[in-house]
Amino acid sequence: MHLQFLGAATTVTGSQYLLTTERATILIDCGMFQGSPNESIRNRIPLAYDPARIDAILLTHAHLDHCGLIPHVVKSGFKGPVWATKGTVELASLVLLDSGKLQDEFSKRQVRREKHDPAKAAMFDKRDRDALASAEELAADGVDGSLNTADAAAARAATAGESNDDGGLPPVAVPVGERRHFDDPRQDAGHFGSRRFDAALLIPGPPLEASSASDPAAIPAPLSGASAPSASSASEIAPPAIVAPRVARDPEQALVKQPAILDIELDEPLYDAADAQASLASFRGIDYDTEIEVAPGIHATYVDAGHILGSAIIRLRVADQDDGPELRLVFSGDLGRTGTPILRDPTVVTDADYVLIESTYGGREHEPEAESNQLLADAVKLVADHDGVLLVPSFAIGRTQEVVWELHRLIEAGKIPLLQLFLDSPMASKASDVYRRHPDYYDAETTALLAAHDAPLDYPKQTITNDAKQSEAIAQAPRPYMIVASNGMLTGGRVVGHLRNLVDDPSAVILFVGYQGEGTLGAHLQAGATTIKLDGQVRRVRCQVRSISGFSAHADESELLSWIGNFATGKAPGVSGWPKTVFIVHGDPDAQAALEPKIKALGLHTHIPLWHEIVELA
Ligand SMILES: [Zn+2]
Repeated sequence: MHLQFLGAATTVTGSQYLLTTERATILIDCGMFQGSPNESIRNRIPLAYDPARIDAILLTHAHLDHCGLIPHVVKSGFKGPVWATKGTVELASLVLLDSGKLQDEFSKRQVRREKHDPAKAAMFDKRDRDALASAEELAADGVDGSLNTADAAAARAATAGESNDDGGLPPVAVPVGERRHFDDPRQDAGHFGSRRFDAALLIPGPPLEASSASDPAAIPAPLSGASAPSASSASEIAPPAIVAPRVARDPEQALVKQPAILDIELDEPLYDAADAQASLASFRGIDYDTEIEVAPGIHATYVDAGHILGSAIIRLRVADQDDGPELRLVFSGDLGRTGTPILRDPTVVTDADYVLIESTYGGREHEPEAESNQLLADAVKLVADHDGVLLVPSFAIGRTQEVVWELHRLIEAGKIPLLQLFLDSPMASKASDVYRRHPDYYDAETTALLAAHDAPLDYPKQTITNDAKQSEAIAQAPRPYMIVASNGMLTGGRVVGHLRNLVDDPSAVILFVGYQGEGTLGAHLQAGATTIKLDGQVRRVRCQVRSISGFSAHADESELLSWIGNFATGKAPGVSGWPKTVFIVHGDPDAQAALEPKIKALGLHTHIPLWHEIVELA
């Protein structure tokens, strides 16, 4: 069986993993790339598989970067079920309908722009097409990363005196579907050799067919350092217990068969609200801790990830044959924090053959809860004292509910004055309704508040705005007041309108409470930019910009290490349940580089997969 990393590989968005066995093919998450144009353009490259041949989609949670491409994949022919917890099904329907609507609006705006200013439209179009070509190359590089693994395997076998033409290994199933290509990056030999697996960890055995010696680009990887992994001293006497994934096929062969050029209409929405609505019929709600067979030979159990309502860590038991050996795979999804309000802590999982762990906050620690609350209180008091405005850009789902929960607690504790709060996100208020409908997912503290007849998700003086007109009218409200608006990274949504009004207002405070993706406006502001570009105009930043990381819905580095450490605690390397490889996903390169050595220090073998890289699991 093999696994391909179709998203959240050296980035934090676009989570999507394709698992192929001898009798089933499933996707784990099917998320949208978000953030800078170079990220979002990745949504436009052709699907790496035939959606009609995917048996099921397993969804970890309802954030757009995990579920956002489902309507696109359904529209493209996927006919199977989308398995998710009941809370996720409800939240995902909000997220996807909103996404369809936004894409429609965006597309219409593009058409207007084209009519209004054809020269500028052409410039943007060229930029997008260039970015798309780069994304295509990047995807091909990822597949090449796999290819180098094959090279190394072939070279190793060759030096062991084995034949390189027919290893006797049964041809491994080529992933379903076809990869299509704009330019053929294989012309450039430099694409090879950029990355390969640690040859030391390759399993001994017959070589894979492929990467033939006649291909000048396929240079066998050097085998120096092919010693036993340091993590496993047992491997000196026994066969290596740690088995690294290998490439599953010859990606070159797959590419050669594909048409060279494919025309894509970049201005068309990937899907619209009607497509999103139609895709909802595929969703199937399941309970936590209940195993189901999602495809022949693939059994899934969802356990609480404590990230947003309904979020799950997915545990799989996977077997190629009915009576064949079984592998246990664990997909962390997005891991929440321990001890945060409303939701339970992430579930401890202890055994797996392979683990995928998110790494959003690799190398970083959140401040303690008391400090986060103090920072929030300080910001509220600051705007109260100066008749200002507090603007909190926030993800509609999860973060908003948590911030409102904390504001409510601070008022009850007498730590902040009661200011008017505008909850300017229709999606956030709908998401809060879903939270209210699922007290079964709450942690003990919130359950106790509910039992005491408190309404833990309601702020006492809050106005929910329903339309754009009400949103605009907030600017005329008597100060001081607070606005919580989405989206959290300032890449769009109503929050941008408020930023326009407040960016040069010294009495305003912009308070970031969540992760700001690389290249986003939020990241620039957070980094202390003194000017920003809004609506094509350069604007001075005169408002205060503050950040709190403790409201993050993501585990910080210590929490990630403690979660992954559960797989190593109390067992010797190589025993059953000791992961053969921990794949570090869902993180920017710096975060991954910071986290990796610390996971290695636990004795675990790690790998940071490239986008589109394929690994064989055995
Ligand atoms: Zn998430």
